Amino acid sequence: MKNNILKYKKIQYIKNYFNSLLDFIAPAHCIVCKKYYNYEIKKSKFICNACYDNLNFAIEKELILNKILQNFPQDKCFISEATSLISLKNNINYLEIIHSFKYLRFQSIGIEFSKLLSQRIIYDNMQNYDYIVPIPIHFAKNRERGFNQSDIIAKTISNELNLKFADNILYRNKYTITQTLLSKSERIKNVENVFSIKNNADIYNKSLLLIDDVLTTGSTLNNAAEILVKYGASRVGAATILFAH
Ligand SMILES: [Zn+2]
Repeated sequence: MKNNILKYKKIQYIKNYFNSLLDFIAPAHCIVCKKYYNYEIKKSKFICNACYDNLNFAIEKELILNKILQNFPQDKCFISEATSLISLKNNINYLEIIHSFKYLRFQSIGIEFSKLLSQRIIYDNMQNYDYIVPIPIHFAKNRERGFNQSDIIAKTISNELNLKFADNILYRNKYTITQTLLSKSERIKNVENVFSIKNNADIYNKSLLLIDDVLTTGSTLNNAAEILVKYGASRVGAATILFAH
């Protein structure tokens, strides 16, 4: 036993030694401010402590829903509650979190921030859903990128909160251009009739929490929510890592 502890301590010592050596040779690079940093205690594996401390958490969930409601008439809004982790309002550079995750394929960034989003979901008392449903991407986009970012976020949340992950409900039948390049009205038009329900998906009387990377006007999420409600879902909520408003 004592020998094992000594062996463990020795391994830890060597690990720490190599980690500090690695920090010295190749210090971590903050994906938000792009500066190199070197600390004893890193609050995040990907952003420096200063950028971490300056994270602008998204506004209260009631206010987020109000923002979404500004883009749709009340009877055309199918989302009953919505939450998000980080607001991009004062610092657009935090968009790099999703950019690096999606386009540079740093999937562990997505996992780190999805764990934080899980905490936000608990804070907002939104863990009472039957299914966690990722917003699907078109199969051609999946082939280009190799993965769907929303799947990774949803899977992480499902593990953290012990909720059922369901990627067998929604289907994307249209290849849409990136929402970020479009105006508000173009965004709403761009995602009209984009989603279908997969065969045999039984969502009658079920509550579903939709997961996406970024919430902007809410048009993508609302479109998905509309079809889910039409097929009998009792309630549809939404959660995203970033909130651009
Ligand atoms: Zn930074």
